[in-house]
Formats: sequence, structure tokens, C-alpha cells
Amino acid sequence: MADHDYDLFVIGGGSGGVRAARMAAQRGARVALAEAAALGGTCVNVGCIPKKLYSYAAHFAHDFRDAAGFGWDVAAPRLDWARLKAQRAREIARLNGVYRQLLSGVGVEIVTGWARLAGGHAVRVRTAADERRITARHILIATGGTPSVPSFPGCEHVVTSDNMYDLDPFPARLLVVGGGYIACEFASIFNGLGARVTQLYRGEQLLRGFDDDVRHFIAREMRRTGVDLRVGSNVRAIHRGAHGLEATLADGSTLTVDVVLYATGRVPNVNGLGLDAAGVAQDEQSAIVVDAHYRTSLPWIHALGDVTARVQLTPVALGEAMAFVSHLFGPRGRAMSYDFIPTAVFTHPNIAAVGYTEAQARAAFPKVSVYRSEFKPLKHTLSGSGERTLMKLVVDAASDRVVGLHMVGPDAGEVVQGFAVAMKAGATKEVFDSTIGIHPTAAEEFVTMREPVRG
Ligand code: FAD
Ligand code: NDP
Repeated sequence: MADHDYDLFVIGGGSGGVRAARMAAQRGARVALAEAAALGGTCVNVGCIPKKLYSYAAHFAHDFRDAAGFGWDVAAPRLDWARLKAQRAREIARLNGVYRQLLSGVGVEIVTGWARLAGGHAVRVRTAADERRITARHILIATGGTPSVPSFPGCEHVVTSDNMYDLDPFPARLLVVGGGYIACEFASIFNGLGARVTQLYRGEQLLRGFDDDVRHFIAREMRRTGVDLRVGSNVRAIHRGAHGLEATLADGSTLTVDVVLYATGRVPNVNGLGLDAAGVAQDEQSAIVVDAHYRTSLPWIHALGDVTARVQLTPVALGEAMAFVSHLFGPRGRAMSYDFIPTAVFTHPNIAAVGYTEAQARAAFPKVSVYRSEFKPLKHTLSGSGERTLMKLVVDAASDRVVGLHMVGPDAGEVVQGFAVAMKAGATKEVFDSTIGIHPTAAEEFVTMREPVRG
């Protein structure tokens, strides 16, 4: 061990890298971490956090409208986009500082620069001043992912989610391409903030992988809130015209907008890492291949988080980091469980889900019962809003276990996080039924659904 500069060298200061570095240092390891951009990675700088802050900002548009039904006169509210951007930037800078403090507080050396593998146990980091060669007993690659934009005529005119937070000026007309998490969230957010949003999805229904009921329901809700959602549609070409960006669609029609956001997936961030030369195996999508302990094809080099392209969520990267550190530096026995990972999409209204979709459950279990409830939330009896909530349970009839739980409605993520614990614990429908609800809430619906809609 003494032959190396460090016990652990982490490449990437995002969710997974920071957590691994911090925990390893707390266990007495000598740790250094290289970050080429800003500490906190995607989640803190251009992902979960700024996205959720803008989602809150967008929700005010609905709240102002709803307030009138409760007797409030809210005179012509308008968004100060520059102020929102400055507020966000201030908070993100504060978080960057918190991350720096968390690392230096436990003795992690932070190396600001671009790192690459340099053979054996060595890495090279290009800093502003020089290039350093550093060796470590273990190397962890936690370099995350990066947006992927298809190549087509005019693709140089589009932006990705990384660019959306600081747009100047505010895009009055926004075209969003994609039907996944990022496309749906940004369509909802910019619609709420006041942009005229058109969203194109190439398939039949957005959010592939989610329960079909949820997909149809959110498509309806997004259209109701004003998003011009077009499925079975795609862009053929884009050029800059006199009045903005002109997108020619696959059906030959055209759209003129100020900004085109491509949210068409993310790929592992592996460029320039020197994986090939080092002999680190990757799959056909360039993701680093790892075993159950996050070991790559070279046993002293490890990888976790989005660069392994398993489940691209911050809590998953954090969980993997904790399992990785406990395996390497103890105490052993902390494994990462990939079953029943809850997830939320911060559309308006929110989506959250845990476990099997109805279709997945029907393929996995001989008999499935489905409980479904759709209603107008109490708040909207006065607000005048047409927003509705969907809640759905999927039950394996043989064991009575609740194997899928889905919601579209206000704060769905907050509601589903709690139920995810019960589902991990194997709660049956009988346990759900014997649980007393909290009244009046939307969440109580999950413990009061008695009649299956499909048995
Ligand atoms: P990252 O957080 O991407 O960190 C990788 C870091 O490595 C970066 O800081 C990068 O600069 C650095 N790096 C890369 N290469 C090098 C190198 N060679 N040398 C030095 N440094 C390098 N997940 C959720 O759970 N909830 C959400 O609401 C959510 N919202 C999202 C919204 C958006 C718009 C996006 C894009 C993602 C969102 N995610 C969300 C996903 C989440 O951000 C990622 O799953 C998570 O950040 C992955 O963590 P990571 O550690 O693998 O990588
Ligand atoms: P997703 O994989 O979720 O969605 C990509 C979308 O782009 C799909 O609708 C896909 O269509 C479409 N698409 C792919 N290629 C093309 C193309 N060439 N032309 C047109 N459409 C295309 O990726 P995102 O970029 O939205 O997000 C990446 C990941 O980040 C997510 O999977 C998630 O793990 C994470 N994330 C999590 C969030 C959260 O937890 N709230 C928020 C944001 C991101 P098709 O379905 O037909 O393949």
C-alpha cells in the first residue's frame, strides 16, 4: 500500500464519486478525487437540484391560478427569469462549497482537473497549472453520463438539458424532442414558466417503461396544462430562419421556435479516459462493465453510477458508492439492492412509481389484480382546475403481495417514497387494507382501494 500515493483515487466528483471518496476517507483510507468541472456533478449542477428548483418555480403559475378559487386576488404575476437564474446559481454555488467542505473535512485531497488512466495503478490529471501523475491502490471511475443528440441536418442548432438553466433570453417558443424523463420534465417546467411548448415524441406514447395507465394519464394532463404534445412525430431538419429556428418535421410540416431542446438520452462519459489503452472492458453502448462489487475487467479499477449505465438515478449512484466502499474498506455486508427502486418524474402533475407495471406483472406472475382510482383532488374542488390524480396498485394474486404502485398527482414522489419501504418489506394487499389512512389526503387512497378493476 505504501508504494502508492493513495489507497483510493476517484475520477469524478458527482453523486457517486463524492460519496465513495468521503466514506472511504472516513474509514481511514488515503483518498484523492479529481473533478474536471464543478463538485456535485450532474445532480447538483445541471440535474436533479436545479431542475427541481425550476419545477417549484413553474408550479407557482398553477398556484396563482388556483388561488382565485380560494378567495385570493393575485394581480398579474410575472416571472423575472433573470432573478430566478441568479437565485438558482447562488444556491448551486453554495452546494458546490458544501461538497468541497464535506470532502476536505474528512481529508480527501481534491484535484481540480481532467483525469485519465495512465497504465497500471497510475492516473494523470491535467490541472490548470500542470499535469500530475498520481498512483493509487484502487481507482474508481465515477464520471457519469453526458447528453446524446442524434446527428441530422441542423443538429448544431439544438441545445441539451445542460444549457437550459441559463438560457438568455427566456425562450418564448420552445420545441422539446424526446419522451423520457428529461423531455417531459422540461416541457412541464418551461410550460409553467410561460413558454409556448411543443413536445415531439417519436413513439406511440411518452415515458416508455412506465405503466401504460400512467403514460396515457400524464399525456392527457400535460396537454391539459398547455403542452402541445405530438406523438409519432420527429424532426427531420432544422435551420436558422428570419424569425427563429425552423424545424421541418417528418410529416413535412414546419415549426418556428426560439430554442430546440434535445432530450434523447444520455451516454456514459468515457471520452478521453484511456479505457481502451488500459484494457477496461466496455459494453456496446460504451458503458463500463462491472461485477457485483463494481470491479471492472481490471480488478484494481472500479466503476459505478451513470458511467456503468445501469439505473441512472442519484440515489442509485449513492447506494452503489456505499456498497463499493463497504466491500473495499469495511465493514463488509452492505450490498446494493436493485429491486423496487422508486422513481419520480417531476412533470406537472408529478409521477412516481415503484415496482412492476401492470404489463410487467402480467408477464411475471400467473394472476394479477389491479386496483385503480382516478379522482379530482380536494384542492381542485375550489380551485377550478381540471387536474386529476391517478393511483394504481398491482397485486400478485397468489402471494397477495403488492408488487406495483403508481401515482400521478401532486407530490407523488413524497407519497411513493414512503410506500416504497412497505413494498421492499413485502407488504401484502391485506396489510395495505388494514392500514389506517390519513384523512383527508390523496395518499389515503392507496389503503382504501377495495375493488379490483381487473382481477
Ligand atoms: P455525475 O453526477 O454525472 O458526476 C460525474 C462527474 O465526473 C461530473 O462532475 C464530471 O464533471 C466529472 N468527470 C467526468 N469525466 C471526468 C474526468 N475524466 N476527470 C475528472 N472529472 C470528470 N436523478 C434522480 O435521482 N432524480 C432526479 O430528479 C434527477 N434529475 C435529473 C435531471 C437531469 C436534467 C439530468 C441530466 C439527470 C438527472 N438525474 C436525476 C440523474 C442523476 O443526475 C444522475 O444519475 C447522477 O448524477 C449520476 O451520478 P454519477 O456520480 O454517476 O455521475
Ligand atoms: P430517457 O432514456 O429517459 O429518454 C430518452 C427519450 O428520447 C426517449 O423518449 C427516446 O425514445 C427518445 N429518443 C432517443 N433517441 C432518439 C432519437 N434519435 N430521436 C428522437 N427521440 C429519441 O433519457 P433522458 O435523456 O430523458 O434522461 C436520461 C436519464 O436520466 C433517465 O433515464 C433517468 O434515469 C435520468 N433522469 C432522472 C430523472 C428523475 O429521476 N426525475 C430526471 C431526469 C433524468 P424511445 O422511448 O422511443 O427510445
